[in-house]
Amino acid sequence: MSEFLFGSHVISRSVVFFQSRLSYAFVNRRPILPGHVLVSPKRVVMRFADMTPDEVKDLFIATHQIVPAIERHYRGTATNIAIQDGKEAGQSVQHIHVHIIPRKQGDFENTDDVYKKLQSHDKDDSTKFRSPEDMAQEASELAELFK
Ligand code: AMP
Repeated sequence: MSEFLFGSHVISRSVVFFQSRLSYAFVNRRPILPGHVLVSPKRVVMRFADMTPDEVKDLFIATHQIVPAIERHYRGTATNIAIQDGKEAGQSVQHIHVHIIPRKQGDFENTDDVYKKLQSHDKDDSTKFRSPEDMAQEASELAELFK
């Protein structure tokens, strides 16, 4: 597959750094913090409960592999693992995904501000999208962690 669908977005293979049978992980175009990445089922599935048990298993096993590698790579000491399941829970892309956000002391003034930022970061036009080149560069560095 040369590209993936993330809801209505086309995700180029160049920004994908991890694949399993049913899931894929890619870098964020507007990360909250360095290393904020996303893991999704390959099939376009809107809500958590829409996934098959096989997809759930595969997504969580993928997340379990990715979290420690990302935390180490970005020299984090903790990680937020978050799913916004449905519009009222903050979901903006209609394709279920796990946010992985490596954390370290002092990255936000108040640790839990990450949740406010999760609500606003992709709706606030003051933050520009990263360039495809920048995203591809990060994805190729991260892909090395899984070889
Ligand atoms: P949510 O608000 O939980 O649906 O999160 C959507 C996430 O997807 C946000 O972190 C966005 O920055 C990210 N995002 C949206 N479109 C793209 C895209 N085309 N490529 C990479 N990340 C994206």
